[in-house]
Amino acid sequence: MENLVIIGSGCAGWTAAVYAARANLKPLLVTGQQPGGLLTTTSIVENYPGFPEGIDGNALMMAMQEQAKRFGTEVRYMSVVDKVELGQRPFRITVDGEVIEAKAVIIAVGAGHRHLGVPGEHELENKGVTYCATCDGALPAFRNKPLVVVGGGDSACEEAVYLTHFASEVYLVHRRDSLRASKIMADRATTHPKIKMVWNSAVDEVVGIDGKVGGVKLRDTVTGATRELPCAGVFVAVGHVPNTQIFQGQIDLNEHGYVQLKGGSRTNVEGVFAAGDCADSVYRQAITAAGMGCAAAIDAERYLNAL
Ligand code: NAP
Repeated sequence: MENLVIIGSGCAGWTAAVYAARANLKPLLVTGQQPGGLLTTTSIVENYPGFPEGIDGNALMMAMQEQAKRFGTEVRYMSVVDKVELGQRPFRITVDGEVIEAKAVIIAVGAGHRHLGVPGEHELENKGVTYCATCDGALPAFRNKPLVVVGGGDSACEEAVYLTHFASEVYLVHRRDSLRASKIMADRATTHPKIKMVWNSAVDEVVGIDGKVGGVKLRDTVTGATRELPCAGVFVAVGHVPNTQIFQGQIDLNEHGYVQLKGGSRTNVEGVFAAGDCADSVYRQAITAAGMGCAAAIDAERYLNAL
């Protein structure tokens, strides 16, 4: 029987593990298929306090992992939670087919990439359609070619700027005429000589040529006019959806799938806590996820002490 199982290995999960391990709870952390979470797919993180020159996302996550392990966190690497049963005590968590019993659980499963849901997107995934510039931007297929980034948030701006290292030009396609991104990120994108803003435009289809991306069909969201924009790659950066499918029917989720918190990190099930992007549709920053992970570990410790 575990005291505390932490599901997820992003900023929230590792921070919860640091705090729980230092409280001698001997937590078990299940990493999921992408240890370190979404931050491992980013390049330089410039807004995590304590790193005046910025820090590589992967390096930051490795450091958090080492810190959590130093204090005795047990880790199940690359393991995936298949099922949770939170309606009984102890809680039952099925990890890669094996049932683990736990007195308390912290859900820190983060969020995944939202898809456009247009024809050609799924068919051409990894054939020019990608969700991660840092992972794929340097591939030979994208070198000195026109590339499209879709979205208007911080991620889209960051990806567009990153891709200027490889592309002949980057088209930043956004469905409105102003960016959602923070001012500093928006300025970097809109003033970059290699980035061309394509305002008021929705991608209706990703067009394939010889089995790989050859362009996108664009629709003007104001006039309705359509046109085709040739490109060798489509980088989709239209936000995220919480990875909470396995908790459906087990704990309260809101209409967008985010875990509903009932004060602090508590969910509607006593002994089950949540932290990070899976429970936060507002701030969604590395540092806020880490803060939420800390709070969840403290709440879990108090809960376990009172049992
Ligand atoms: P986001 O802020 O939710 O922005 C998503 C963008 O995609 C919006 O511009 C949205 O358009 C657009 N969009 C959504 N669905 C679409 C669809 N079906 N078709 C076309 N466009 C669509 O997501 P994000 O940029 O991934 O950022 C997520 C969080 O991470 C934010 O809190 C952000 O601040 C943070 N972040 C921070 C940094 C940094 O500070 N370095 C870097 C990356 C991300 P509308 O604007 O019209 O809604």
